[in-house]
Formats: sequence, structure tokens, C-alpha cells
Amino acid sequence: MQSLWDEKEAARYVGSLAQRVYTSRLLGQEKSLVLHGGGNTSVKICETNLFGEEETILCVKGSGSNLATIEAAGFTPVRLEPLVRLLKLTAVSDAQWHNALKGAVVDARAPAASVETPLHAVLPHAYVDHTHPDALLAVCSTPSGRERVQEMYGDLVVIVPYCRSGFPIAKACAGIFAAQAGEQTIGMVLMHHGLFTFGETAQEAYERTIDLVTRAERYLEQHRAWHIALPSVPAPARPTRHDLSRLRQEVSAVAGFPLLMATHTDPLGMAFVQRDDVAVLSQQGPATPDHVIRTKNRPLLGSQNLAQFRAAYERYFATHASRIGGELTMLDPAPRVILDPDYGVCVTGRTAKETRMAGDIYRNTMEIILRATALEQYRALPEEDVFEMEYWAPEQAKLRRPEALPMFTGEIALVTGAASGIGRACVEAFLVRGAAVVGLDINPAITQMLERDDFLGLVCDVTSEAAIAQVLDTTVRTFGGLDMLVLNAGIFPGGCRIEFLSLAEWRKVMTVNLDANLVLMRDAYPLLKVAPRGGRVAVIGSKNVPAPGPGAAAYSASKAALNQLARVAALEWGRDGIRINTLHPDAVFDTGLWTEEVLRSRAEHYGLTVDEYKRKNVLRVELSSRDVANLAAELCGPLFGKITGAQVPIDGGNERVI
Ligand code: ZN
Repeated sequence: MQSLWDEKEAARYVGSLAQRVYTSRLLGQEKSLVLHGGGNTSVKICETNLFGEEETILCVKGSGSNLATIEAAGFTPVRLEPLVRLLKLTAVSDAQWHNALKGAVVDARAPAASVETPLHAVLPHAYVDHTHPDALLAVCSTPSGRERVQEMYGDLVVIVPYCRSGFPIAKACAGIFAAQAGEQTIGMVLMHHGLFTFGETAQEAYERTIDLVTRAERYLEQHRAWHIALPSVPAPARPTRHDLSRLRQEVSAVAGFPLLMATHTDPLGMAFVQRDDVAVLSQQGPATPDHVIRTKNRPLLGSQNLAQFRAAYERYFATHASRIGGELTMLDPAPRVILDPDYGVCVTGRTAKETRMAGDIYRNTMEIILRATALEQYRALPEEDVFEMEYWAPEQAKLRRPEALPMFTGEIALVTGAASGIGRACVEAFLVRGAAVVGLDINPAITQMLERDDFLGLVCDVTSEAAIAQVLDTTVRTFGGLDMLVLNAGIFPGGCRIEFLSLAEWRKVMTVNLDANLVLMRDAYPLLKVAPRGGRVAVIGSKNVPAPGPGAAAYSASKAALNQLARVAALEWGRDGIRINTLHPDAVFDTGLWTEEVLRSRAEHYGLTVDEYKRKNVLRVELSSRDVANLAAELCGPLFGKITGAQVPIDGGNERVI
């Protein structure tokens, strides 16, 4: 592993905490050291308190920060002295532990202190770095892991056997460090967990992490266990989008709520799932118990074996819950990682972020398993330890808190014409309500529109059947299925009276506003049919359907035909639990189409001011894209749960419609 320390760059970070920020970011850049908010760093600073007394403050990365992007405000300042005293006690309950930790924080605005904070108090050095290096975990995860770590590091480190989080691990570290650390000690290895290094400067602690990790990488290299050989495997029978969305439906049914599912078919994943010994390798448990929260105790092996997975998880819970005693609530028994020789690696989660985390963690897990296997044999911790982490009190407490998840959590919406206007507002309305959203647009800007896990922007000409099939495939491989469809894309050509209307123009409008929606509805139907909560379609119609105007024959006819198509779909799809409702908006003026100039000329045409023109309806209100988008989202929500085939005007009240 290369050191990223840069003398010039480092000089820009002045002061103890700033230096702490700099090397924390260096550690955070290395995915094989820390993943998704894992790992933490600290610095001990001498400060004078309100009463003029000197005290040592331990600043530790707080909960919710990422090392790669941490700022000084991301560190939680904690009084060192009460933590040192706490570790002298012989027994401390989890509740007392958390209380003591919270009570030691000196700044009420600081983030919550990490549960690993006291481990930093154990080590007397100014700077402490804690990471979870993959190379070290691979060496630990073998039958003779401890001897190998000893052989690799000699007296450079003290070794702490695996203990569960909270007081037990902190107490063990304190005891072993006090008894065994010597002049040469530069680190502490926590078996099946990670590495601590320390130093008097930020650079010293950081370079020691790099040094110890490099030694682990070299050790694996010397034992021909570093480079992972990926044999070329025969191309599997690729599952169709229907197979994948059915699998997501079944997994969601086991969970009791909708889950997202991402499918990975990269060379590492495919080589892993097709190994002859995949059953042995994958069913032992996670590389570190920390991961159990994201990946469950083991992956589902073979997409058809879901019922067995569920039964095994229920058995695992019953066995260990009765051993531990107390009141434990079982987590949902649905897998978070699914290994299938044909499908590849499918990962599930309630949100797109959770799904990505599970995917990244399992990718590292496969590498650790393969390296440990090449070195000797993969050996995970006993199931008891994994269970204790999964059902650790702080994690269980989160479950008892009534959680207010947004209403579309775990569901997927697809919006057409999503790069601007009502379509873009729909993307935002569904995201706010917790859905993962796929936005389609012919404008390439759609791919860059939003940088977030739960949005996928795809360029798509909706008039191409092949393009529609392609985006549905991508939707299912990225998020697992399709629950909601928003038919928004449409064109509104300039006014043209019938006597001048060319057939080409008429057909062009019909192709986009009508035919494309037929294809999309037809091809989305099998996916909507297996949506865990029933499929929903929101059609953006037009005020022109109930109240057409002169000069818009093609547009009005296309929207009226779409309206009729939606009504027939409501009749045909009702028995599949799919709801389809239409909303009829009047013009919205907060889009690029309506420049100041256009508005002025339209207002003049009616003999009105611009403001009067915008509000020429019964309620005298101006309509925005967001109003329409919010209604489209609500049409898909529980408020309209027993309604299908409806047409809802959203126009401020129109005399001709009323
Ligand atoms: Zn840790």
C-alpha cells in the first residue's frame, strides 16, 4: 500500500486537529482500509476548561462522518479522564457504557461519540488510527490466523483476541496493551476486526498503518494469496428482467416490506458464484461481525432456495436468542446477499444506499474469502459472535423506535420526460417520498441531472421499442424491479388549425404522446404485476382532454386517446392489483417553455396582465410543476390506494371542466 502523505499538502493543515483531519482523509481514500463510514481516528489535545483547569480532550471521529470527507466539526470532543477511569471497572452494562460515553462529551453540538471511542482512550499516544484492512482480515480469517499475525508482525504489535463491541473489547485492549506493549510496539491487532496504529504525530500514526498493511499484503504475496486469479467461466444463462423482478418480489414478501435489489455480474462475482466450493466458502459467516448488519449472517445460495434461507434464519434466531435470554425482536428473515450461478451476486436493501453498502461489503468479503482460502482456508468467527453483534442492544434499540420511513421506501418509480418541467418535478416528488427513481429523457443532460444513489438518469427515445426494452432491463438490474410508472413525456407542437394540419405532424404527435406510452405500459406490465405492493401508473393527461381548445387537434386527440387507453388498462389490470389514474393539469408556467416574452404575448392576446393570465381559473391560483408532481406521487400512494381509472383535474378550477 502506497503512502499518500504529501509534505506540501500536509503543511496547509495547521494545528493538531487540522493534521488529524488531513491523515484521516488519506485513510478514507483507501477502500481496502475503510468502507462506508467505517474506521475512526483520534487526537488528544490539552485544553483549559471554563474553570481554568487543564484537561485532556480526546477528539474522535463522531458517528455519521466519513473519513474521506471529514471536517474538524466531524470529531467529537470527549474528556479523556472519565473514560480511563471507566476502563478500570470490572463490569459495565451496555446502558451504563453508553451513558458514560454520552456524559463525557464536552460539546453539546458535537456528533454522537462512536462506540469505539474508549479504544482510543486505551492508547496513550497523541494520534490513533483505526482501520479495518482487508489484507489483515484475510490473514485473521484462517485457522492459524493468530500465529500468522504473530509471524508477520513479531513484536511490532500486540494481539487482542476477538471480543464483542462495547466494554468487553475496550477492557481486553486495555489489559493486553498494558501488559504486553513495549518500546517496539507501533500497533494493536484486533482479531477478526481491524488494526490500531498510533504515534506522536499524525504522520507517524498514518505511516505505521501503511507499513503494517503493506506487510500483510507482502505476506499474502509471499504465500501466493494476494493476486486473485479469475478463471474465465462459461457465460451463464442470463436471467431476464422478469426473473429478477420476481425474485425481488419473493424476497420482499419474506422481508415483509419492499426491498431494492441490485444485480452484479462483474468477473469477480461471477467467478465466485460459479466455484465448485461456493457452498463451503460462502456459508461460514462474515469476515468481521460488523458486516452482519449489512449482509446478514450468510448469503442465500441459489435464488430458488429462499424458503430454506428463511427457515434457517428463524432457527438461527431462536437458537441464539434463547441462549442469550432477554427480550429480542427478530429482524426480518430476508437475505441481503444472494449468490446464484446464473444471476451473479444480487444484493438487497431498503434504500439504494443500503444496497450499495451491502454490495461493496460483499465484494470485499469475496476477496477476503478467496485470499484466506489461497493462504490456508477461510475460517469465520463462530455464529454466536456474529449473532451477538447482529442483536447487540444499541442495534435492537433502533428497531424499537417507531421509524417514520418515507412512504415509497424500497420502491422504484420510472418517470419519462424527466429532464425538465413536470417530469423533473416528478423525479423530486418521488425521491422525497423515498422511492428510487429512474428518469428517462431524450436530452443527454438527464445522465448528469442528480448525483445520488437513488437516482438513475437514462437517455431514451421513448418512440423506440428496443430502447424501452433496454431501459427496463437496466432499471431491473440496478434497482430490482418497477413499482410505479409516470407517463409524462409528450410534445406540444405550435397551434395549427385542422385545415392546415399535415399527416406527418399528426403522426409525429401520436407516436410520442400515444404509441410510446402503449409500448411502455405493455412492456412494464409484467414488472408492475410483481410489484410487492401492487403496481401503479400515473398518467399526465391534459386539461385539453375534458376542455379542448382550437388549434391543438393533434395534441388534444393524442391525450384523449391516452386517457382512453388508461381507462382500458384500469379495467384489464385491476385483477393484478395495478392501479392507473390520470391527472389533467392546466399549463404550468415555471418551465423553460414559458419565457417572459411568450407570457407577455399570450397575456396580451387575452387582454390580461401576465399575473392575471397565470391565474385565469376559478380559484385565481397559479399552478406549478411541483403541484402537478406532488399529485402524481400521491396518486401512487395509499391515499389513492382504493382508486383506479380516475381522472383528477389539477387546474385551479376550470369553468368548462366543472
Ligand atoms: Zn472497528
